[in-house]
Amino acid sequence: MAREDTIAAIATPAGVGGIGVLRVSGDGAEDIGRNIFRPRKDILSFESHRLYHGDIVNPDTQTVIDEVMVVLMRGPHSYTGEDVLEISCHGNPLILGTVLESVLKLGVRIAEPGEFTKRAFLNNRIDLAQAEAVAELITTRTDRGLKHALYTMKGVLSEAVASIRSSLLDVLVLLETSIDFTEEDIELPSPGNCVEHLEKTAWSLEKLLATYARGKLYSRGMTVVIAGRPNVGKSSLLNCLAGKPKAIVTSEPGTTRDLIEVDIMIGDLPVRCVDTAGIRESDHDVERQGVSLARRRAAEADIVIVVIDGSADLLDDDRRIIEETIGGGLLIAVNKSDLPQRHTREEMEALVPGHDFIFISAKENRGIDALKERILTMPETAADIDGTDVVLTNLRHKEALEKVLSLVHQSKQGLQENRSPELIAFDVRESLRTLSLITGEGAGDEVLDIIFSRFCIGK
Ligand code: GDP
Repeated sequence: MAREDTIAAIATPAGVGGIGVLRVSGDGAEDIGRNIFRPRKDILSFESHRLYHGDIVNPDTQTVIDEVMVVLMRGPHSYTGEDVLEISCHGNPLILGTVLESVLKLGVRIAEPGEFTKRAFLNNRIDLAQAEAVAELITTRTDRGLKHALYTMKGVLSEAVASIRSSLLDVLVLLETSIDFTEEDIELPSPGNCVEHLEKTAWSLEKLLATYARGKLYSRGMTVVIAGRPNVGKSSLLNCLAGKPKAIVTSEPGTTRDLIEVDIMIGDLPVRCVDTAGIRESDHDVERQGVSLARRRAAEADIVIVVIDGSADLLDDDRRIIEETIGGGLLIAVNKSDLPQRHTREEMEALVPGHDFIFISAKENRGIDALKERILTMPETAADIDGTDVVLTNLRHKEALEKVLSLVHQSKQGLQENRSPELIAFDVRESLRTLSLITGEGAGDEVLDIIFSRFCIGK
């Protein structure tokens, strides 16, 4: 009888396919194999990591369910670190469902999302950053994203974290030596050494954090929201970016009330472009809802292109939209440059100071390539991550490293201001604790549950 903590799940996507794989992990895996698998050639017992050809049978009736290939990987040399049985069936959901049912009848329970990877983590096969990279590898949307996820899964981020950890430990040792020997007449380590170590650590952290903006975009893609008051040419711009008509273009203000979303590529980045309702004060309820939706999407976007009509006066509505968007990635597109312009570039700069403009004509498809180029060189997207293998793509890791960086700065300042070494050591210890959350040491069940619940079943 299989032990209760043996788990099973279908690892391949729902639907018809060439092959469908069912995975079982735990002490009972081999038992399951013996109960439901009839090999073509008789075997005494499973040899680990060897592929066997045979039939899966219903354990009660012994009727054949499917002709399959089966492999048993004995722990600890398996994905989860436990005994793992993988059954490759024909990819019909009915077959997979029946095989899973048979396995469950033998006392195995169905796996929770990400439970195989969670077990790999709990059995120290991989650390938490590597486990999260597995999920990333499955969901990432670009070739570059794949490369980063693969490197993280192989442990490059964990190595970078280990190296930062080792520098911080050096600082801690120096500090604790000075705490322990303050009363004695021996030469104490100079605070200068600690400051130097902390400066180097801060530099490494900053370098790592700088990869996040671009890393995230390669992994998840970017959202560009097109905002502006009605009739300035937002839908026309979306159509230009999409390369074909997606949104309705009319001269009737307030036509786009829902969001229209189009997925395009800009350079090698997947971009979701969102055309929004024209933002203006309105008494009309439906239009007001559209405007509020537009504002929400703009607040969440990586970049907001605020479109203004260069052939018309700049109105209070235009200014308000620009002001609302400052802080995020703001790009102002002055549209209708094919018509006589109300303002020269200089006048425009004076009217909306401190912002970068790009002049376009959505009607004549002019300036669109330059607009795309500009998007790729904005600070929100332009971090140079070529030549580095360690790229941050995970918000949890980024937030932890930011906290470590602020503690490192605080410790350095403390040393420069001759604060008590005990207090500084406290901050360094806190930064070590925060670092270890990335690789998962000391991560509580709650954190683990949240992380692994985002995985798919069977991974
Ligand atoms: P939206 O309400 O901001 O989405 O604006 P639309 O894209 O629906 O365009 C409103 C009107 O402006 C339509 O009549 C368009 O043909 C016109 N329009 C849009 N872009 C341009 C442009 O670059 N030049 C000119 N001359 N007209 C434009």
